[in-house]
Amino acid sequence: MRVAVVGSGVLGAAVADELVRRGLSVVVCTAEKSRPPVTDVAFGWLNSHGSAAEPPSGARDRDEFARSLGALRDVTATPPLRGVITWNGAVSWASTPAATARFAERSGPGVTTVEAEALRRLLPGLRVPPPVVAHASEEGMVEPDDLRHAFLARARAGGAVVVPARVDSVRVRRAGGHELRGAGLALVADRIVLACGTGIPALAEQLGERVEVPGVPAARFTFSAPELRLDRVVSTPAFEIRPSARHGFVGAEDVVPGEAEAATRARVRTSLSAVREAFGLSREPALGDVTTGVRPIPPGDGVLCAPLTSAPGVVALAAHPGVTLAASLALRTAEHIERS
Ligand SMILES: Cc1cc2nc3c(=O)[nH]c(=O)nc-3n(C[C@H](O)[C@H](O)[C@H](O)COP(=O)(O)OP(=O)(O)OC[C@H]3O[C@@H](n4cnc5c(N)ncnc54)[C@H](O)[C@@H]3O)c2cc1C
Repeated sequence: MRVAVVGSGVLGAAVADELVRRGLSVVVCTAEKSRPPVTDVAFGWLNSHGSAAEPPSGARDRDEFARSLGALRDVTATPPLRGVITWNGAVSWASTPAATARFAERSGPGVTTVEAEALRRLLPGLRVPPPVVAHASEEGMVEPDDLRHAFLARARAGGAVVVPARVDSVRVRRAGGHELRGAGLALVADRIVLACGTGIPALAEQLGERVEVPGVPAARFTFSAPELRLDRVVSTPAFEIRPSARHGFVGAEDVVPGEAEAATRARVRTSLSAVREAFGLSREPALGDVTTGVRPIPPGDGVLCAPLTSAPGVVALAAHPGVTLAASLALRTAEHIERS
């Protein structure tokens, strides 16, 4: 069976890898030159519970998140993915100790509360530690582009072909299978995985299905701060940061849709002042890049992983937070493909 995977962000890459491992013939079509994957500017927190600073608003399928972290541990246990992820856990707190405790309690057994004494071991550099923090000890962090490139490399090594072409049209063939077309591309595949983020609705519509994948902006920034000692994710009402072997440190910041870049940068600078204050740094951290990415966030619980009703051999796949969920959704997508 030949499967075309449209998109090579973390979800497309993880699916391509999983399909190859199951012995299927895989072609990945990617428009990454003209539409850079949002994956490459993600913060990189493998975050199964959310943050005490901003608890998840909707229902989260806890089992899905637990499965994904488990599957990510499995796939990163052997080369070429070994060592891609750092499993040092994450620390977060809300604006009041009661809200932090409530978050930990609601999160279940993966999150415990930690008080000032023990917190000194987790975050030794904090100048004024809050009375209580939530510690998600099983969570991790990753350079998201490293993860997707590692999935793609393993898929390629297993025989997947990656075609750098945008898919502009897709249709079901009378003779069977599906035809995908784009500039320099004409491909027939038995099955299709639409893993092209906010590009999914346009292709699904050609197959007679209305699918919603709204895009919600957020920014990732890089910074350096030679005095800052940090080996895990920290998320607070004032900042969300982690160390990065490549960038020094990275942070994530909300973006108000339509706002000017200067407004986002101003908020990032306020975050960095809060980092300086919290860790008692003698100097303001030096800001590097600020990059806004548009996150594909399906309505409801943020996960779309299902065959199209109008074209059952086509599976639509989008999710938020997609880096965290990539491994389990790759398994689910492969099961849909094998069953269809
Ligand atoms: C600032 C920021 C911080 C984030 N932090 C986190 C985090 O800490 N943890 C987490 O889990 N998630 C995080 N996310 C969300 C995460 O980035 C996304 O959920 C995830 O990367 C989505 O992956 P994807 O493969 O669906 O999409 P993408 O990475 O956008 O990939 C889509 C692919 O489809 C291709 N494409 C589009 N249209 C077509 C077409 N017509 N033909 C062919 N190819 C096409 C694109 O070129 C691209 O390769 C963050 C996002 C942002 C912006």
